[in-house]
Amino acid sequence: MSKTWDAIVIGGGAAGLFCAGVAGQLGKRVLVLDHAEVLGEKIRISGGGRCNFTNLHSSPANFLSLNQHFVKSALARYPSSEFIKLVSAYKIGYHEKHQGQLFCDDSAKQIIEMLFAECAKGKVNIRHPVTVQSIAQDGDQWTVHTNVGIEKTKSVVMATGGLPIPAIGATAYSLDIAKQFGLKVVDPRPALVPLSFTADNFGNLNELAGLSVPVRIASGSKGHRYGACRFNEDLLLTHKGLSGPAVLQASSYWEEGEPIHIDWLGAIERPGGFNCDELFNNEENRLKLTETILASVLPQRLAKAFADQKGLTGRKWAEVSKKDRQALKELITNWSVKPAGTLGWKKAEVMLGGVDTKELDGQTMMSRNHPGLFFIGECVDVTGHLGGHNFQWAWASGFACAQAL
Ligand SMILES: Cc1cc2nc3c(=O)[nH]c(=O)nc-3n(C[C@H](O)[C@H](O)[C@H](O)COP(=O)(O)OP(=O)(O)OC[C@H]3O[C@@H](n4cnc5c(N)ncnc54)[C@H](O)[C@@H]3O)c2cc1C
Repeated sequence: MSKTWDAIVIGGGAAGLFCAGVAGQLGKRVLVLDHAEVLGEKIRISGGGRCNFTNLHSSPANFLSLNQHFVKSALARYPSSEFIKLVSAYKIGYHEKHQGQLFCDDSAKQIIEMLFAECAKGKVNIRHPVTVQSIAQDGDQWTVHTNVGIEKTKSVVMATGGLPIPAIGATAYSLDIAKQFGLKVVDPRPALVPLSFTADNFGNLNELAGLSVPVRIASGSKGHRYGACRFNEDLLLTHKGLSGPAVLQASSYWEEGEPIHIDWLGAIERPGGFNCDELFNNEENRLKLTETILASVLPQRLAKAFADQKGLTGRKWAEVSKKDRQALKELITNWSVKPAGTLGWKKAEVMLGGVDTKELDGQTMMSRNHPGLFFIGECVDVTGHLGGHNFQWAWASGFACAQAL
């Protein structure tokens, strides 16, 4: 048995390492325990190896949670500008890619090294691989049993992340501990995940695997757990179904058995927007083939696939009936399709659901009924949109917790 720690952080990923570094630098004696051989694996593989570490525009509107207000305090106290300052202080080069998304110029490893350097500054003790066997409350102290000994601490910070990518060590341990102490957990499910389709509802589109198209996508509805969304983003056709940023975003709002809606022309940028009737009622198009007209606004292969689906390939526009024109318009501007499912935890980027925010104090991330027990990062029922918001939540929730320890 060794000395009593101020805090033991279980999980040395984004939120855990960041929280430990901040708390250590505030003078706290912090121990990080992780079961992985290598730490920071999710950071390493994030953003295609360049880590989309935050978003310039991160705001509460970018998060899904049963309680939309929960993120407000933590995000206000540690906005993206603060993390950007830290990245700049470490002279890590970065660039904005799309809609405020910030990526490392060089490698995600720089963010991991920065987190380790911050922990070193705070004299944080990091031990791994260590198996945490149990956590017990002992008056105003906590006892953590591991495969290498027993540790005592004033606070326990659960930061074991979500369930995506089990191959790199994702577990439900934070959710198990929440349940052990009687905290409610919102059912976890994969989010920011590709959607799969059956041959029936996908038609001939799987032949276009690899094609990327800017679309407007809508998913969910007001009565759903996390409401509804609408995004203008790129959609990627794959052999198994649909992916790309548009579909990943929509997947977080999608509920089984429900359709998603795609306007294949909705993301065309034109002053005043794009009106499909303009294309269909244009007299100059009367003698053109259907697939040629569609190809003036869609990639050629997709235009042909849509014309094929409606049996209109090779038909002059003047010969296409009003009913067929209407059906084609519906297909390209309001394609309503029911996904068969998601590609699951192996392909998801984040977890929806987690420790119910009603159980936690939004200023500190501490359990309302178990003082000294904290939950941060992805294990909490807070899920960001694609684009750096999930890391921003890891930093902001870790910071709020560190201040409270
Ligand atoms: C492929 C991919 C790409 C992504 N890209 C981005 C991106 O570019 N931008 C963005 O904002 N978000 C991205 N994300 C999401 C982001 O990685 C997570 O939201 C973030 O890492 C969550 O931080 P966390 O600290 O809560 O969990 P993690 O970073 O996952 O850390 C959890 C830690 O807990 C440890 N652990 C798990 N179980 C146990 C246990 N039982 N005992 C001890 N330790 C345990 C793990 O080993 C790990 O070190 C991506 C996710 C994936 C899968």
